[in-house]
Parts: sequence; structure tokens; C-alpha cells
Amino acid sequence: MNQARKIKNIIEPQFVMEGAGVRLRRSISPHPSNRFDPFLLFDHFAFNDPLEGPIAGFPMHPHRGIETVTYILEGSVNHRDSLGNSGMIGPGDVQWMTAGGGIMHEEMPRRGPSGQIYGFQLWVNLPAALKMSQPRYQGVSAEQIPSVDQDGVKVRVVAGEVFGVKGPVTEIAANPVYIDVTLAPGAEFVQEVPHGHTAVAYVFEGSGYFRSGETGSGESQAVSAVKMVQFEDGDHIRAQAKSDSSFRFMLMAGAPFMEPIVPYGPFVMNTVEEIQQALLDLRNGTFVKQ
Ligand code: FE
Repeated sequence: MNQARKIKNIIEPQFVMEGAGVRLRRSISPHPSNRFDPFLLFDHFAFNDPLEGPIAGFPMHPHRGIETVTYILEGSVNHRDSLGNSGMIGPGDVQWMTAGGGIMHEEMPRRGPSGQIYGFQLWVNLPAALKMSQPRYQGVSAEQIPSVDQDGVKVRVVAGEVFGVKGPVTEIAANPVYIDVTLAPGAEFVQEVPHGHTAVAYVFEGSGYFRSGETGSGESQAVSAVKMVQFEDGDHIRAQAKSDSSFRFMLMAGAPFMEPIVPYGPFVMNTVEEIQQALLDLRNGTFVKQ
């Protein structure tokens, strides 16, 4: 069987306020129903439009039980944390942070020379056995992210494998695919995604199709930026740009953990007691384990 995955659901991102008043487009938010398992949250920040307000950023805050993945396309994010790490996530860079048992960090967006900031943050769940693990960073600079470029298909491979090229982010519990795909008008791209893994695509430029069926001949409505697409189960994703438009999307897939989750702000644990413990640890100053 070799089925192209059918679109299950198209989600319209909603504006939300986060941090110290940052306006974001959110298309996945942590919820006990866990319907994007292993993904918990997907935010798109773009301060290119004055309507989206001043840049406030995300002052010191905790995380526990999750991984946060920051991908910057324009501008930068300055970060520092309770482990003593600090640095800048610049254009084309990715920071894959495994918060594990606890980290405190600050994330402050800065405009690039063009005056713009553009990027994404994904939250990936951790299984119960790893929720209290040691925090870990995989900081990947733009040059370290391999790019595949052929027949009108350009893919930056952060995690997973495309045309035999492996992404630099490895040893992630969800065994994820995290790639940035740009298709020239009419170009087609097929990505294998293991059966049973959750798959979503965040369409942020242009317009195209995700075709289904055994030959990929299945009907598909055109999807235009900006939308989050959730796929049904199958063996691969088949995308094609419209003949008169390019098509760009983040393709994300991962193995679901199928565990109950209790999200609470920056924490996602398995039980209410574990959330209470996180709050207690914060109050007692024992949140960060060194
Ligand atoms: Fe954070």
C-alpha cells in the first residue's frame, strides 16, 4: 500500500497575545484532547505589519515536560537561560530546546536590517519517561542545515530525511520530520511519512495542493497561505505548487506518544499532580535542577 495522505482539516491561525504582549498567529495550542500528538503548539510570529504592534518579547519564563523549536527566517531572537547559555538565533537558524525537567529562559525578538521579524515556534511533547530529563539544546546555524535543491523543489532539512539528506537535529523522542519546503510554480514534492505518525503542514507562502490516493491523483482543494493543514494517516505527503504560484510550507511529522497530557501555561505534564509539583518547585526555587 502506498497512499498519499488526504487533508483531514484546514486550520485558520488565530491571533493571540503572549509573553509581554506579543501578537502571534497560533494554529495549534496545548489541549488535553492532544489531537496533534506529539505536537502541542505552533506559533507564527511576523512583525512586518505595524498592526501587529511593538516588539515586546518573552521575558524570563519556565518550561517543563516539552521541547520548544524556534526557527527564524528574518530578524533574530536573543535568548538566555538558567543554565548560563545565551546567544542569538539568526535568520535561517534553528534552536531545538529540550526543556525536560525544567529550564528558565528569555526570548527577545529583534528586527533585522529590513525591519522585519519572521519565524515559528513549535512545541513537541516529551513522553512521560523523559519529562523530567536533563535539559538539552541543539542549536543549528543556517549553514549547518542542509538544503536539497532539484527540479523546482527546495527543502531545508532540520530533522528527518529528504532525498537521502539527513537533518542535523537528532535523538528526539518523537522521531520528527521538520523541514522547510519551497516549491516553484507547478513543482511537485513527495515526502515519506511513516504510517501512524502525525503530520501537519504550515502553509506560509503561495498556494498549492496536497493530493491524496494511491497515485496521488486524488482531488485536493488549493491551500493558500496562511493555513495549518492536518493530514489523515497514509504513507506520504504529495504536494504540488499551483501552476501560477510558488508554494512554501513547514512540514512537520512525528510519532504520537498516546499518553494523557495536562497542559498548564509553559508546562505540559501527564497528570494534574505533576503540574502542581511544577508550580510548587517554582515557588520553592527548586524548579531548575542543576
Ligand atoms: Fe519559551
